[in-house]
Amino acid sequence: MAEEYTQAFVLRKDVRNDKDSLYILYTQKLGKVSAIAKSARKVTSKLSGHLSPGRLVDVRLIDKGSFQLLDGLSRGNKCRELEVLRFLNFIESMTPYNQPDSHVWHIAKEVLERCQIEPVVYRELVGVMGFAPIQKGEALTCAKCKKKGAQVNHFYIPDIVLLCSNCVTGVRIDTNDLVKIS
Ligand SMILES: [Zn+2]
Repeated sequence: MAEEYTQAFVLRKDVRNDKDSLYILYTQKLGKVSAIAKSARKVTSKLSGHLSPGRLVDVRLIDKGSFQLLDGLSRGNKCRELEVLRFLNFIESMTPYNQPDSHVWHIAKEVLERCQIEPVVYRELVGVMGFAPIQKGEALTCAKCKKKGAQVNHFYIPDIVLLCSNCVTGVRIDTNDLVKIS
């Protein structure tokens, strides 16, 4: 059984039963993984202070077919910006499991360290992930009305599409699912 030691940030925590917790982590070495913090209440409660969403942590995982979280130690303070939750939702929705991506990792790490998320960060991530041209000067196309240009300034997570400001106002959208990219 391989033990892995990697930096990570916490995307989400779910309580599985009264003992175990399931963490969705974005790790530097393994990409997005889910990992169970097993029973042993002491461990779980010791970890939980370090493993709240948005925190950068050093984690120790063991691969038993699925990952188990053995230890976690946070680095620095938790970012308390409300925008962070939308950012975490974006990363969780847009990244596949078990596929490390150093570009995504470094952008996200910097965001969480600075505790600031500007539209240009989302624009870069959408490009890196292959859902828009990487070149920032290139005109984007709205998936709905097919217009091109600067007014195409949103990315809608559930449909994985670019939308212009007109089309965004025309539909009911959960704002947590929408990010501004310019
Ligand atoms: Zn449009």
